[in-house]
Amino acid sequence: MLPGMLLSRTQLLSFCRRGVMLAVALAVGPGCQVAPAPGPARPPEIERPSPRVEAPPDDRPERLAETDVRVLVVEDAPHVAIHSRRPMSLRHSTGVRRLPAGTWTFRVLEAAAPSRRHHVFVERFRARHRDEAYAEARAWRERGYPAEVFPMGSHYETETGDLLDNRQFWVAVGRFGSESEAVALQRRLEQQEDKWSWTRAEPVGQGQLRVEVIGPGQAHAGRFEGPMELSSEVPMEFARMEGTLIDPRFETARFTGALELDPSSRGALAVFERVGLEAYLAGVLPAEMPPLWPEEALKAQAVAARTEALVNRIDKHYFEGYDFCTREHCRMYGGHAAWHARTSAALRETAGEVLAYGDTLVPAVYSANCGGWTEDNDAVWDAEPHPALRGRPDTPSGSREADSPAMMGVRAWRDHGPDTFCSADEANYRWTEHFTREQLTELLNRTRDIGTIAEIELGDRGVSGRHTVMRVRGSRGSATFERESAIRLALGRLPSALFDFETGQEGGQTVFTFVGAGRGHGVGLCQHGARGRAQAGASYEDILDHYFMNARLERLR
Ligand SMILES: [Zn+2]
Ligand SMILES: [Zn+2]
Repeated sequence: MLPGMLLSRTQLLSFCRRGVMLAVALAVGPGCQVAPAPGPARPPEIERPSPRVEAPPDDRPERLAETDVRVLVVEDAPHVAIHSRRPMSLRHSTGVRRLPAGTWTFRVLEAAAPSRRHHVFVERFRARHRDEAYAEARAWRERGYPAEVFPMGSHYETETGDLLDNRQFWVAVGRFGSESEAVALQRRLEQQEDKWSWTRAEPVGQGQLRVEVIGPGQAHAGRFEGPMELSSEVPMEFARMEGTLIDPRFETARFTGALELDPSSRGALAVFERVGLEAYLAGVLPAEMPPLWPEEALKAQAVAARTEALVNRIDKHYFEGYDFCTREHCRMYGGHAAWHARTSAALRETAGEVLAYGDTLVPAVYSANCGGWTEDNDAVWDAEPHPALRGRPDTPSGSREADSPAMMGVRAWRDHGPDTFCSADEANYRWTEHFTREQLTELLNRTRDIGTIAEIELGDRGVSGRHTVMRVRGSRGSATFERESAIRLALGRLPSALFDFETGQEGGQTVFTFVGAGRGHGVGLCQHGARGRAQAGASYEDILDHYFMNARLERLR
């Protein structure tokens, strides 16, 4: 199944308020929306200055071949059983232990999660504005806040020697041993300085981990202290085990990278795979696009997924000490068992290729089916317009704006619109959904307390026809939803926000009928459109050039 959304729903592309830098997928801490509380804006007390304050970031570009990502594959389990056909090496706190081929069980004797430090951030800057980040921190320090700058992410060198700088510089104004203290500062900042802020929790140290290791035939290998790392010449796999809470997908998954054992946040065992970027992508791609699709579509998808992974690394789990989880929040990842020869070939044939705009990587988003016209990024997320993410007709010969779904209306577009490259995907290209008033009331009251739905009013549309403003009047109040992502989220199961709707009566009940097109946000690459273009003879370069206009293809060293 092709996922409709790139970013998790709570994570939207956004620009900071100053509009000076692009930031991707910012998960806002719970403190951002708390009610103001009285009290003077007193600078918080801090344990000690951070070594990172004013520290110059490492200026050496990261090499793609050396880029490992750390993936959380088991979040929290009392024990895991890991199998290898060849001997495994177990590195632990005092040495290395060789474990003969077979299945080895790691049982937690003692585990304590590291303590966490809670940072409150107020601004973030792109690399080219890093001086402003340090100036901002100085200004906050002069006012008594223990401000510090966190350089995050990497920069990369292209084959032709240009730099693509994906670093961000985040300015924090306080760090605390507890979340409630961080929230209290956020509250003060919001109330007294009208300052929006967000938080991140960072583990401090490695915590405690002691495991008992039992091998084939109940052979007792001993007790070891963590953190630990397991490696083998061949992929390792988890063996099925009573009482483990491993994602069922991984009961047969194999992992090519080293497996790292850490204490979990809940005092049991967490397992991470440390794996090369290309191997990680090989475990992601088959779930993103069916491996039997045309080669050029797979190659376009490979470049988009590679670029997106490098962009997303910064803001998914950066402060938690790893890069990606294995769920849709980051991208479904199935380890080595998910690999497919055709998607792996697409990665090899586009090795190192990414999409660039200016001196940065493009947030190379994609969705299943644009419905015939792609959308502007700023119509979907709270973001500055990105020159590489402009909505365009997904038609063979281009199209006049007068013929767009935004101008024609979705019904007319569906019935009389031009041919498009994504129309073969009938189930997603055109759809109709019915809701009773009760169903809509239930959906819309999940996030807003507005009572029984009386009326839905739709305002502006993006260039693709996706709605960008929806007002809902209910028996207890009204709510306005702005941007495609908010509207689609509010309406729950609608495949896209590219729809017309009407109310009617059926069996004495009011029925709301949504007639729509496309699946997903519609920004960037249209996956079914890429398939259609490849079938019509387009190269992956042509495909990327269409969906990411103004972007250029670069090969990283
Ligand atoms: Zn994640
Ligand atoms: Zn399309």
